[in-house]
Amino acid sequence: MTILTDAPRFELEPDLPICQTDFPLDWYQEEFKPYAEEYLALPDRLPATVFAWLDRYVRPAQDHFGDALLLLAHFYMGGEIVKLVERYGGSVADSYQLALQARNQPEKKVIVESAVHFMAEAIALLAHDDQNVWITNPKSGCTMELLAKDWMVLPVADQLIERYGDDLTVIAYMNTSGRLKALAGRTGGAVCTSSNAHLVVEWARSLGKKILFVPDQHLGRNTAHRLGMDPDRIALLPSPERGAFRIEDTEGGLDALDRAEMILWGSSCGVHTIFTPAMVRHFKADGWRVLIHPESPLEAVLEADGQGSTNYLWNAVMTAAPGDKLAIGTEGHFVRNAIDAGRARGVEVRHLADVPNFAQAGCGCATMSRNDPPHLAGMLDLLRKGEAPEINRVLAGDVVDERTMARDRLDTGERAELVRHARASMERMIAVVERA
Ligand code: SF4
Repeated sequence: MTILTDAPRFELEPDLPICQTDFPLDWYQEEFKPYAEEYLALPDRLPATVFAWLDRYVRPAQDHFGDALLLLAHFYMGGEIVKLVERYGGSVADSYQLALQARNQPEKKVIVESAVHFMAEAIALLAHDDQNVWITNPKSGCTMELLAKDWMVLPVADQLIERYGDDLTVIAYMNTSGRLKALAGRTGGAVCTSSNAHLVVEWARSLGKKILFVPDQHLGRNTAHRLGMDPDRIALLPSPERGAFRIEDTEGGLDALDRAEMILWGSSCGVHTIFTPAMVRHFKADGWRVLIHPESPLEAVLEADGQGSTNYLWNAVMTAAPGDKLAIGTEGHFVRNAIDAGRARGVEVRHLADVPNFAQAGCGCATMSRNDPPHLAGMLDLLRKGEAPEINRVLAGDVVDERTMARDRLDTGERAELVRHARASMERMIAVVERA
């Protein structure tokens, strides 16, 4: 069983309102509107008020499902959902740890996730057959994954495979759909996380493979730099926002691709691309230690004192000495929680974009925050009553349009095939990490 030894413990301050933007009523699925109506009518958002209301729905569901129920949330969840989930005995973790939660706890049969869709799908991918995974809001997509849908990547991967055959392997960052993780599996490649991307890429290089790295160009570039790869042997594919493209349209053309050790898909995370070298220098000049997530641009990462995953960043705050000052470049809700946790230990934490004349300071993952208290209450209550909407159930291979909620679901045979390949890519990652 995965024990989240370094899992955070979040404190809720009674006088501070639950920080969550209220969404308009017509934004909710029909089945969730009654819960949203009640929530919107609450007199305030203070924890005592919100808990009294949430308890009416969460407690009966917990009594009904007992130990079979597992609540999960990601570190980046806004609206203090992380604190709510934790209060009800759930787990808060990064996407890799979340993915293992169902698989490592076979007694959990009803898994309710408050985070983005690809994370819920990764849980489903590894789940046992009798475990059901539910997402509280299917419209919670990841903007990085949004620009790396299977129908965007697969036609390009086909062109590259046609040109390079077995010499090409795909490395899929955790922030991808199961369909891309399966592509990695089919090409002998692996999944990676931000904490082990350097190990996985180095492993593929040792096999003499040309790497297609999807979807985050910044993590790819940072990893290549960390491994000392020649920048001239890194090719960036055209922006996926352009729509379908031919690989010949890559800057430098086919020569650039032929030369490349690593070919980067052109997506990125809007939350992490805001960080600049000037921000890093601003804090360092004032005596702050700057730590940054590798989904940020290479130029900013190079100036920082350290780079790493959300776990690395959280542990840095929790192990800093009293009096230390840390500027952290990652998602805003996470940093807000780190500021609270740091303050309790005498450690000063600021968000890296919290510099003069920058309006986006503290920018959070807006799509992840679409999982709000009414969604959590409604999901649990509907599940207890046996009325949960099928669109909230997540199966491996599901693709959901975050705007329309239209879903493309594989048939049973296709799903089994996808799970086989996607699991192979995850198992290769685990093997690489364990060997290291
Ligand atoms: S922070 Fe960025 S990469 Fe992470 S889930 Fe949100 S949009 Fe995706």
